[in-house]
Amino acid sequence: MTTDTPDHAAVTAPMVRFERVSKRYGELTVLDGLDLDIAPHEKVAIIGPSGSGKTTVLRMLMTLERIDEGVIWVDGEPLTHRRRGEQLVPADAAHLRRMRGHIGMVFQHFNLFPHMSALRNCMEAPVTVLGLRPDEARERAGELLAMVGLSDKLDHYPSQLSGGQQQRVAIARALAMRPKVMLFDEVTSALDPELCGEVLSVIRSLGAQHQLTMLMVTHQMGFAREFADRVCFFDAGKIAEQGPAQAFFENPQSERTRQFLRAVM
Ligand code: ADP
Repeated sequence: MTTDTPDHAAVTAPMVRFERVSKRYGELTVLDGLDLDIAPHEKVAIIGPSGSGKTTVLRMLMTLERIDEGVIWVDGEPLTHRRRGEQLVPADAAHLRRMRGHIGMVFQHFNLFPHMSALRNCMEAPVTVLGLRPDEARERAGELLAMVGLSDKLDHYPSQLSGGQQQRVAIARALAMRPKVMLFDEVTSALDPELCGEVLSVIRSLGAQHQLTMLMVTHQMGFAREFADRVCFFDAGKIAEQGPAQAFFENPQSERTRQFLRAVM
């Protein structure tokens, strides 16, 4: 594969770029030539009907799904390819591991290690993947758990925590890897409504305090409107409409978007 993109220089490059990315499962085209640029520190909400490809976008960034066509760039580097002269060729496992380290993901169902305390959950990957000394990793984990309001729960196991608390541990655990990009996949969908607020307020404060690029799939239109810089409405594997959050919700341009918003708001 070749690319005519000359040089993704750090100053001008988006933090994330989907360039004509397609994904198919057999006959089903899930993403159809997706082009999407996300600027450094931008907060983007992805909304859309079930099955429109939203989660696939996040999973591809986490290298959990193979790309059928196109290239994803992260901070100017191809995610699953490497350069050979003018060409891009599939990358080896070491490149994939390194690139994956730039991305942190928080899932709908927390996915914590059940046999580890909150603190150990946040120490594990920094020690085993980043090679941090355990005392360094413990200190960082403690700071992050304090930041998500859990300094009194360091030694609690996931089963001893509420859903909202588990999700806050999951956020701290992802941050412990110092990612450049954070992905949130319907992180409040599995929570009782009264527990959503605490998770959203942690995400809100992350957005305000940290220089992270954030990409979030959400059904919470109120939160998307308040939190995101930009909203992308996915329909059938394409971005059907996108725009600054406030303008998007106040003045949707297409009938398809209006119809979706009427159904979910
Ligand atoms: P969304 O997050 O918008 O609900 P997804 O990205 O999860 O949509 O899925 C998009 C489409 O791809 C759906 O039709 C889904 O059934 C299909 N799909 C997702 N994962 C797989 C898979 N592993 N095998 C086959 N089809 C899949």
